[in-house]
Amino acid sequence: MEGNLLDKVQVTPSIWVNGSSASLDTPTAPYSRIVVVAPAQVSETTSTEVSALPFDSSPHIWSRLWAEGAPGSASVAVGSISGKRSAPVVVSAPVPARSLADEATAALTFDDGPDPTWTPVVLDILKEKGVKATFFVLGGRAQAYPDLIRRAAADGHSIQNHSWNHPPAFGLLPFEVVFDEMNGTSAEIETITGKRPTFFRPPGGGLSADVEAASGQLGMKLAMWNVDPQDWAGNTAEGIYARVTQGLGGGDMILLHDGGGDRGQTTAALPGIIDDLRNKGFTFVTL
Ligand SMILES: [Zn+2]
Repeated sequence: MEGNLLDKVQVTPSIWVNGSSASLDTPTAPYSRIVVVAPAQVSETTSTEVSALPFDSSPHIWSRLWAEGAPGSASVAVGSISGKRSAPVVVSAPVPARSLADEATAALTFDDGPDPTWTPVVLDILKEKGVKATFFVLGGRAQAYPDLIRRAAADGHSIQNHSWNHPPAFGLLPFEVVFDEMNGTSAEIETITGKRPTFFRPPGGGLSADVEAASGQLGMKLAMWNVDPQDWAGNTAEGIYARVTQGLGGGDMILLHDGGGDRGQTTAALPGIIDDLRNKGFTFVTL
């Protein structure tokens, strides 16, 4: 970078006429002896500016898992006198998001809690098995049972947003209602855990342009699922286990419930589901 930046500051050479110091205006006679001495090279100090390089992000709606990308960085030298900027030099290259659909990873997700009866049972199983999961909680229930949210967060689980009180036909609601359901719940979770959610799961899977827009404005992606054992529909533990373990592909987002009704069959199926995934070489991740 030496010599690149400084070209705006004019430096006059020293001029000698017949042995005397002179300037560009000094009149000269014929046969005058003119000596021009080029100035010494002038250099300037530079400061370094670091800027982020954009990366290819994951899609806004996830139905299978992604490994999110990360921005890169570049540095630019800025001349203290000239203000001129060097060409950027890449310090670290951006990392694009990567689909995990072909990798043996899975996320256990639990919706509709927290529930004073069933959430502690789920947390006990996860702790015993050493698995971290993702809880899509309702803001109203989080407000009613903040200790359950605190315990789940302290155990290392991810706490995400599933609306304030699970309104029906979520995809048909007007933008303002959708926004308030999301924003109130994110604020409640942040109050309890200190962390704002980065994912929203629409109640009943109800999507719309307003759901996409509101979640984007609130800095959340939409988390759907690709494995649904329908534990909310009265399936037996054996049925729930069979549907999960036979439905696996890769990058699986498994939809379970720790609230919204009797979760005795879900909690009975859970240890076997975890063991089966482990035996198949799956890694558990959270959103
Ligand atoms: Zn739900």
